[in-house]
Amino acid sequence: MSEPTHDENHGGALGARLNWLRAAVLGANDGIVSTAGLVVGVAGATDDRAALLTAGLAGLLAGSMSMAAGEYVSVSTQRDSEKAALAVEKRELRERPQAELAELTELLERRGLSRQVAREAAVQLTERDALKAHASVELGIDPDELTNPWHAAWASFLAFTAGAMLPLLAMVLPPASWRLTVTVVSVLAALALTGWSSARLGAAGPGRAVLRNVAGGALAMGVTYAAGSLLNAAGV
Ligand SMILES: [Zn+2]
Repeated sequence: MSEPTHDENHGGALGARLNWLRAAVLGANDGIVSTAGLVVGVAGATDDRAALLTAGLAGLLAGSMSMAAGEYVSVSTQRDSEKAALAVEKRELRERPQAELAELTELLERRGLSRQVAREAAVQLTERDALKAHASVELGIDPDELTNPWHAAWASFLAFTAGAMLPLLAMVLPPASWRLTVTVVSVLAALALTGWSSARLGAAGPGRAVLRNVAGGALAMGVTYAAGSLLNAAGV
């Protein structure tokens, strides 16, 4: 195993930024693989540039919108459940403040503070902003910075689109005799880069991640190209 990440210890800010960056790299990776598979498959069946452009563009739009919608739904759900948890916390703080103080003390104690220091810290945190303290220590969330579902949706839309542009342009810009080579080479190179980046961002060793990512992309293009060629040979 590689050494564990230290993100948690740096608090939310760095961890959150790394998560965003990692999500962007993975979104771009998705855009590259799915669009490359699509255009290479169509290239197996036809030389028609208009058909390649149409397939690639449709794949880009369908993929980026489906990613955005999925992200919107999942972040909205997460936000709803965080808001519900905060509402419960708020009510408990109002209805049984002593029990909540005891709870916060115990949680701080479990994090390694002595009973006395934990008690003191709990009292001070409660005086300053009880809800924020409980949200952070008990639920691990910052009530002032819940993830915005629209931001998340836009980010994955853009990441996927950026990735999908590569195989699309590599397929439609070069002359017909070069388009397949240019696409395969540039896609595999890009996948080596995204595999390396996501491994580094996750503090994992990059070697195997690069290999897996490149192999996955090569497989996707190989399978769709075979399917396209078969359809072509069958005269469809
Ligand atoms: Zn609480």
